[in-house]
Amino acid sequence: MKARDVIPHSAESIYDRLPRSAQTLALNLFGIRNRARMGAWNRYLDDIAFTERMDRSEQVTYVAERLRHTLEHAIRTVPRYKSHAHLLKELSDPSANAFSLLTEFPIVTKGEVIADQTAFLSTDPGSNRVVKTQTSGTTGTPFTTWMSKETFTRADALWWRRNLWSGHRSGDWIARLVGDPIVPIAESSPRKPWRISWVDRRIYLSTWHLNPVTAQEYLDVLDRRRPAFIMGYPSALEILSAFCLESGRSLTWRPRAVWYSSEAMLAHQREMIGRVFRAPIVGLYGCAERLISASQCGEGRFHLSLVDGFAEGQFGGLEATEPATITTLMNRAMPLIRFQLGDVLEFSPDEICPCGRTLPVMKPTMARQGDWLQTPSGQRVAPAALTLVFKDLPGVRRSQIVQVDDRTLEIHVDADEGAIAPVSELLKDRMSKVVSGEMEIRCVRDTKLTMDASGKVQFVVRRT
Ligand SMILES: [Zn+2]
Repeated sequence: MKARDVIPHSAESIYDRLPRSAQTLALNLFGIRNRARMGAWNRYLDDIAFTERMDRSEQVTYVAERLRHTLEHAIRTVPRYKSHAHLLKELSDPSANAFSLLTEFPIVTKGEVIADQTAFLSTDPGSNRVVKTQTSGTTGTPFTTWMSKETFTRADALWWRRNLWSGHRSGDWIARLVGDPIVPIAESSPRKPWRISWVDRRIYLSTWHLNPVTAQEYLDVLDRRRPAFIMGYPSALEILSAFCLESGRSLTWRPRAVWYSSEAMLAHQREMIGRVFRAPIVGLYGCAERLISASQCGEGRFHLSLVDGFAEGQFGGLEATEPATITTLMNRAMPLIRFQLGDVLEFSPDEICPCGRTLPVMKPTMARQGDWLQTPSGQRVAPAALTLVFKDLPGVRRSQIVQVDDRTLEIHVDADEGAIAPVSELLKDRMSKVVSGEMEIRCVRDTKLTMDASGKVQFVVRRT
């Protein structure tokens, strides 16, 4: 669930003008809606609980059947796929090989859908209540996905399942540091930049107002209220942890788990967050398009949800592509087929997880295509390699890599003035090795790293 689900966009400007007490009341009213949604999520998760433990051949049959229906529905009702009508006869046969029929469809990119969105919308969405979600559009035009209200609820339920897997029980408190716009962003130094919703037991901490002073206040709130869980973007949890360590403070409270989503958790972030919160760090992979999702289990594996979408390569049969190619199994309003989200995903189809769930395993290396760095000779450097550059650097709170042009990189470092000089040469040296000496490296002090519209800090930013 993203911030915009807590406060609808249309209501944001009204909310921003309310006094603090009325904002708290509004959040508690949303809490009532949230509780109803949690009920719906739990019911849906009960319905699909059996999919967590099917054997592989049952899973393949289950996905193939849903895939067959998706393809049939798309050909019949989506203008873009009308030309595939010759496949209908085969698709109507329950014993048809849905996976090989899938490969008869073209791979579709975001750009193609943006160029002619109506061609991808079904004339029979199966529901009158169709909603849309939008990506923040950091790299150009925002991307809109349409889906029925029911699909949206189910997709939310799949995200919620990660929390249940890591031990959330009814009544547990959750602290949130995920870009919720609970304090007007325009207010530069608000008093108490957090809000509490007693109804659904949420502590909302403003990601936008995190600085050395508010960090101490957030840590006070956490120590006082002792929520069972804290969830956040890795970049936000990292900076809160950095401020905590800098002040020499140790928390008296310890959550049962730290949850993260929306960004990959890089090794240097995990190390710092782990030191502060001393709890398991559990991830969730999802996308605004609600095409596919994966939750991390207690054994540290990311399990695909299976019911929402099919990623080529997840079972090992069809070859995986880069970026990943995904087909919805759930969205009838805008059934995206062989769609490339732009995320790079790797699968371990043969891995057996000790947690007992048979859901396909995805490697924890997922990254947005943009998080990779390309050197002038064409060598590509994955985020996992880039993160080594930032290991064990005293005084460094957070960092961002900015590719200024093909041959120049800037390492933006959030640190105090005095802390930059001692690490700058080391950083340049390490980064130069990672890119095989092909690029000029500069080190820049920057206490306001570039955030996108939802408060996330992208690790690699391209200005070219
Ligand atoms: Zn597992």
